[in-house]
This record gives sequence, C-alpha cells and structure tokens, in this order.
Amino acid sequence: MIIGCHVKMTAPEFLAGSVKEALSYDANALMLYTGAPQNTKRRPLEEMRIAEAKELMEKNGIPMQLMIIHAPYLINPANAVKPEVFELAGEFLYSEVIRTHAIGASYIVLHPGSYTTTDTKTGMDTVVRCLNGLPELPEGIVICLETMAGKGSELGRTFEELAEILERLDHPEHYGVCLDTCHINDAGYDVNDFDGVLDEFDRVLSLERLHVIHLNDSKNLRGARKDRHANIGLGTIGFETLHRIAMAPRTAHIPKILETPYIGGEPPYAREIAMLRKGVYEEGWQEHLTVSE
Ligand code: FE
Ligand code: FE
Ligand code: ZN
Repeated sequence: MIIGCHVKMTAPEFLAGSVKEALSYDANALMLYTGAPQNTKRRPLEEMRIAEAKELMEKNGIPMQLMIIHAPYLINPANAVKPEVFELAGEFLYSEVIRTHAIGASYIVLHPGSYTTTDTKTGMDTVVRCLNGLPELPEGIVICLETMAGKGSELGRTFEELAEILERLDHPEHYGVCLDTCHINDAGYDVNDFDGVLDEFDRVLSLERLHVIHLNDSKNLRGARKDRHANIGLGTIGFETLHRIAMAPRTAHIPKILETPYIGGEPPYAREIAMLRKGVYEEGWQEHLTVSE
C-alpha cells in the first residue's frame, strides 16, 4: 500500500524535516506545500535541505515521485474578473513548478480554480488560457488537476469538466488528475461503489491520467458540495469504504495521501495509516491520540 499524508515544511529542517515527519508515521509517500499556502513568500531553494531530503527518501526506498507538491490555494487560474489575480496565478504556478522540479519531485497538485462572478464557460476558458500561457514546463513535470467538491463557483466538480480542460491544453503530456475522495463524495459521486467511480473516471478521463489520490473522509453527505474533510472512519464515507479504496487493485500503484484534520492539536496520521495498513478499525482511536504505543 502506498500511503502517506500531508506534512509540514518548516524551519529549521525544511524538506528533510518533511521526510522525517512522514517516516515517523510509517508513511511511504508524502505531500507538502513549498511554503505557507496562503501567501507567496518562499525560502530560497538553497535553504530547503533538498539533498538531505533526497538522501533520506533513497535510504528508505521511497522514489522521489512519491513526494507530491501541492500548489497554494491562493492560485486561482479561473479568475477572469481580477487581472492581477489571473497574472499572479500563472506566474506563481510557474515558480512552483520550477521549485517542484528543483526539489526532484514530479507531481504538483493544482485546484482548477473558481470562476467567482462570471460563469462556468468563462472560468473554463480562463483556466485553459492560464495553463496554455505558462512557459515551457520542465521534463517530467505533471500538473495534477484536483477533483473538487463544487463549493461556490469551483470548477472541476465533474470528471467531464476536468476532461474538457485537459482536452484543450497545448501540452497534455504535462497534465494529469488528482482524485480526492472527500471532494468527489461532496460533488455527488458514490464512493461506496469505488469500482464504478473508477470505470466512470476511465471512460471520461482515462485511468492513465490519475497520479494521486487524496484519501479523506467527509463531514458531509454525498452531493453536499461542501468540502470539509473528516478523519478516517469519523465521517460519512467510513473506514470500510476508505480501506477498500486504499486497497483497490487498479490504483495500487498510485499514492494515497491523507489530508485529514489534526485532533486536539495532534497529527492523526500515524494512527490512520496503521489502521488502513492493518485493515482493522479501532473504535475510539481518536481519543487515545497522545498515548504512545
Ligand atoms: Fe487540494
Ligand atoms: Fe485534496
Ligand atoms: Zn478539500
């Protein structure tokens, strides 16, 4: 099982610290932001302890493609209303791609954006314009458009919307998809029938384009269009379904990344990963978070 979670990337250890954090949860994949997701301040690459992080990954037999980067959510490539937001989206996304490449990672997850006060068509045109306006992307870089819950004016709620964006890109070889279980549940897909979801994904988008799975439970019912992540087994999707998704043979080679909330200020990932690996749910696990094994 290739499973990991969202980890921090903070002083003093930066990227090396991110890998150590993931290893401490018994993860064999990880995802991180290259800085605060709500601003554009970024450390110079020389300070990020990249070589040390790579060495740790290698020593633990984790390929660098399993270190996933998430672009910050301030990037809105679908904003046709504010030219400065649109400009920043392209510029900052490109700088994030360059950082991803310098780190030695391949996959960078991107939210397709929100059309705000325009309409779906204008939003779609705007995302396509942003992505087609990027300078040439480095070899091996894949921008993964994430399936979204459809909150507000978010694009990417349906596989069809993502397919339309992908079809209109000049360099489709540099793009793929990240499937988020909480988001697709909230968008209206029946995740209990994950095989059916994968059939649908394959029909509309092709499974070859799927590179990352975000494995989250949801605080809301199917179709609620809300996007609020719950801990594994504590939401409406439930442990059994999430475990089945984590074990699905067709997506066995794809990293599953937990983006579940902290509990009482503590990261829940070691427990969640252990339960998913074992396939056994421990009732009340969240109450014993700080108790060591
Ligand atoms: Fe995301
Ligand atoms: Fe996600
Ligand atoms: Zn989300």
